[in-house]
Amino acid sequence: MDIQASYPILSTKIGKHPLVYLDNAATTHKPQCVLQAELNYYEKLNSNIHRGAHYLSRMATEEHEAARSAVAQFLHAPSEREIVFTSGTTAGINLVAQVLALSSLIRSGDEILVTTDSHHSNIVPWQMLCQRTGAVLRPIPLTPALTFDMDAYLSMLNARTRIVAAPYISNALGVINPIPEIIAAAKRNNTDTLVLVDGAQSTAHVPVNLSELGCDFYVFSGHKVYAPTGTGVLWGRESLLSSLPPWLGGGEMIKEVSFSGTTYNDLPFKYEAGTPNICGNIVLAAALRYVQEQGISAIDEHEQRLTRMMCEGLNRIGGIDILGPVEGRGALVSIVVPGVHHYDLGTLLDQMGVAVRTGHHCCQPLMQYLGITGTTRYSFALYNTAEEVERALACTERALNMLR
Ligand code: PMP
Repeated sequence: MDIQASYPILSTKIGKHPLVYLDNAATTHKPQCVLQAELNYYEKLNSNIHRGAHYLSRMATEEHEAARSAVAQFLHAPSEREIVFTSGTTAGINLVAQVLALSSLIRSGDEILVTTDSHHSNIVPWQMLCQRTGAVLRPIPLTPALTFDMDAYLSMLNARTRIVAAPYISNALGVINPIPEIIAAAKRNNTDTLVLVDGAQSTAHVPVNLSELGCDFYVFSGHKVYAPTGTGVLWGRESLLSSLPPWLGGGEMIKEVSFSGTTYNDLPFKYEAGTPNICGNIVLAAALRYVQEQGISAIDEHEQRLTRMMCEGLNRIGGIDILGPVEGRGALVSIVVPGVHHYDLGTLLDQMGVAVRTGHHCCQPLMQYLGITGTTRYSFALYNTAEEVERALACTERALNMLR
């Protein structure tokens, strides 16, 4: 079956060139079934949920809560009470950091470890937590091969380590971090050390089983998993979420309100104040069902093939530094070409119809660590093809011939 045919936007022409979309780590396109689910919601279900006695409200509530079950099932989460809908990865990490700041769990002098390859959204919320609590943020260095430095990490873990937060897959390097080992070491250090996994770059690409992984929080964005922007999920261990304080106050997150005080709702509603993104959450579930139909392991295999092809082709062109090892990477390749500015390469590729990302990828501390201003990043989704990789390689070679 021609998968691209079910993505209307992929038939876009850039000038006279067919679009080759390799900016999937920034956001993915949406298949027809996802677009249809959105239309269906507004044509047939639109209503506010959880409070209306009428038919449409009941139907929308049922669909919304079925969406929560679908997310729980997709992530193999122990309970759907642990699935909190958010507006994305950034919102999820901020929610956790803000709630921990309100709790008594973080004290002055406590340490929060993040990986050097973290996205700003896995750095800044923790810095804000540190400002409020007196905790200290410590970056875990990389090995010279730009992989996670396990020895350095093990030597940094100590009695004050309270939180470890890491991306499953780095959006700037493509490196897959050894998340099970990172979690196991944190828990060996102290069973109370909390581990948050940033799943922004893993959820659409590799199987995730939250019943086995052993982390405390896992977050992702819907728009990188074929769903609309403004959707996402925070998964949190039930025992933790139920004992942590609420964050945003308002409708939905309460049991009873009076001027003398308020009691809070049960999970997950305690963390879902206000009218949620009802349509978006329902459509997110449709997107996850679509990914399940395609098969996450088959997607992973397909994308691995394209990624390997890309690395081999770039090495054949020569004079290109691929950041991180070829093996053990997610579905993206980030390059630096000595003597060529990433923005110039990206602009020429755009003129040839090839959409890539250039710049710091919201990882400025990583760029400072590497002593560079940015990279050119090719990132893949299930709908990309070997022919597209070949075109991207040919265009890269042509562009570099013009630039060097
Ligand atoms: N973490 C990683 C690893 C990412 O790749 C991204 C998006 N580029 C984010 C966090 C932030 O995601 P969002 O902007 O959807 O909240």
